[in-house]
Amino acid sequence: MRSLPETIAGWVHDGFSLLGQIRITSRPGGSFELRHREDVAVHGLEEFHGPSAARDLSFFDEARNYRPLKTAPNLRRGWSLIVETPEDLRLALDHFYPAMTALWRSQLEASLSSVPLRDTLDRQTGMYAASKRLQDEEGLQLVASACNSKTGCMKRMLWPFTKTVELTGFSRLERSADVLTLDSGEKEIPLLCHEACNILVAACRETVKKRERAAAATV
Ligand code: SF4
Repeated sequence: MRSLPETIAGWVHDGFSLLGQIRITSRPGGSFELRHREDVAVHGLEEFHGPSAARDLSFFDEARNYRPLKTAPNLRRGWSLIVETPEDLRLALDHFYPAMTALWRSQLEASLSSVPLRDTLDRQTGMYAASKRLQDEEGLQLVASACNSKTGCMKRMLWPFTKTVELTGFSRLERSADVLTLDSGEKEIPLLCHEACNILVAACRETVKKRERAAAATV
């Protein structure tokens, strides 16, 4: 079985050049160049070398604000990153989008299972246990905003709200692991969300707390 770095290099060779806002190009000699996909035709980008630079590039958005969610669509532009080997490519991509290439491989191997949001909330403990009291309508509205691919998060949600209630307000593509092929022929490795992240769970808790504080204030 091929290692993950070898698998990723194979994907790039097969035309999978896009991951989130990153564009990957193979270079002569076996190295790779990464840049923001909006910078495809830009010259004179600031050049970086090695996977650890990806960590720094992923920290802040264009306005130098910290990016708590790596898959938010606000990666800054203006840079080019050279990595020499498939292993360094994997490390760099993991800095930009943690675990996303491994999840995509799991999906291709049919070994990725998704967890309904309600199940994720029901197993919260401590300060996050309040999120169990999230109402369905509140949850559906919250997800529609927090997980919106244009303004919130670029991941595709593979999980339903509950085992019987689906999410609403998303396109079929936003809810699937289908490969998107651009007119140019370039293919996109999808960023997959198989279980709600801590940021969404915290937002669910805050929604419940806000409602309960408002109710207590009217008593
Ligand atoms: S729950 Fe998934 S899709 Fe929603 S913000 Fe978190 S990582 Fe993104």
